Amino acid sequence: MSQDYLALAMPCVQKLSPYIPGKPIEELQRELGLYDIIKLASNENPLGPSPKVLEAIKKEIAHLTLYPDGNGFVLKQAIAQKFNLQLSQITLGNGSNDVLDLVARAYLGPGRDAVFSQYGFAVYPISTQSVGARGIEVPARDYGHDLEAMAAAITPTTSVVFVANPNNPTGTWFTRSQLDAFLQRVPERVIVVLDEAYTEYVDEAEFPNGFDYLAAHPNLVVTRTFSKAYGLAGLRVGYSVSNPQIADALNRVRQPFNVDSLALVAASTALQDDEYLKQSHNVNRDGLKLLETGFQRLGLRYIPSVGNFITVHFDCPAQPIYQGLLQQGVIVRPVANYGMPHSLRISVGTLAENQRFLEALATVLKTA
Ligand SMILES: *Cc1c(COP(=O)(O)O)cnc(C)c1O
Repeated sequence: MSQDYLALAMPCVQKLSPYIPGKPIEELQRELGLYDIIKLASNENPLGPSPKVLEAIKKEIAHLTLYPDGNGFVLKQAIAQKFNLQLSQITLGNGSNDVLDLVARAYLGPGRDAVFSQYGFAVYPISTQSVGARGIEVPARDYGHDLEAMAAAITPTTSVVFVANPNNPTGTWFTRSQLDAFLQRVPERVIVVLDEAYTEYVDEAEFPNGFDYLAAHPNLVVTRTFSKAYGLAGLRVGYSVSNPQIADALNRVRQPFNVDSLALVAASTALQDDEYLKQSHNVNRDGLKLLETGFQRLGLRYIPSVGNFITVHFDCPAQPIYQGLLQQGVIVRPVANYGMPHSLRISVGTLAENQRFLEALATVLKTA
């Protein structure tokens, strides 16, 4: 090939580093010929999907020849009812990742910039750069967002600030009063994306609900997902809630049928299944405690987390430990791409998975 086709891509695309996903189970099977594999790498729900959701999907399969409802009326109505919102505030996405991209396409581009935190979710710089905007990364404070510094980093060309509460991969969080103070400082012309992908897991009394801030802050976009606590990562469905004008802008750049019909029906059903959500929450709470205790026993430091994952530190580069765990059929997540080469992020699994991980880790550390 005499033509370099990557060189033909937009300069901002050529400079992009692609997102690094967790290793799929099938890939490790192919590579090592292992069959008994657990994946604690992508913050998926270890319970599997809710049986009620599976039932609803089965019924919907009969209609796969039809396009989905491009307005997602039924799902929007379920969201609006559950959280006391207006339909006009909701934008559905193919995962909440899709909504983050919609914000970037609607509000970012060449000559504009977006502010996000060091150790912030990897998608923020990718969405920003992919539309030719500049990312401004603000140093973290104790691995968490330094909201004061982030507000101070806003320039006249800043159009979007991305914050995650809690943040992935650190599991750090900010309080109501911290969010309040931050939103007071951000100019009204700057869109604040508050990514609440893990909000269902958090127990902290001072933890804010982004929806409560929408009325006072018309520049706020709250994103949520069905991929984590609702156990539907494979289906790809999430949403944002904002003022209707922002929703209108997002809707203009959205693919007409960005959420498929199985995902729509699954998400509307999942929203009604409070029992499953509670179980997910409780399994996670107990799992997090088990992992923390396990790390303490092994003399390892970790970042206290309120999500469904926890990042643990080692005194040495984490890559050999990651590889050692793979050899034992345990997939976790390296975070070197986040600037943490001595750490690994572990998604909370079932009790049996968490125990198996801790045993594998102890073995790897002994032989290291
Ligand atoms: C997992 C995650 C998402 C959600 O991704 P989906 O596209 O909804 O699956 C969004 N933000 C953060 C911080 C996440 O960790």
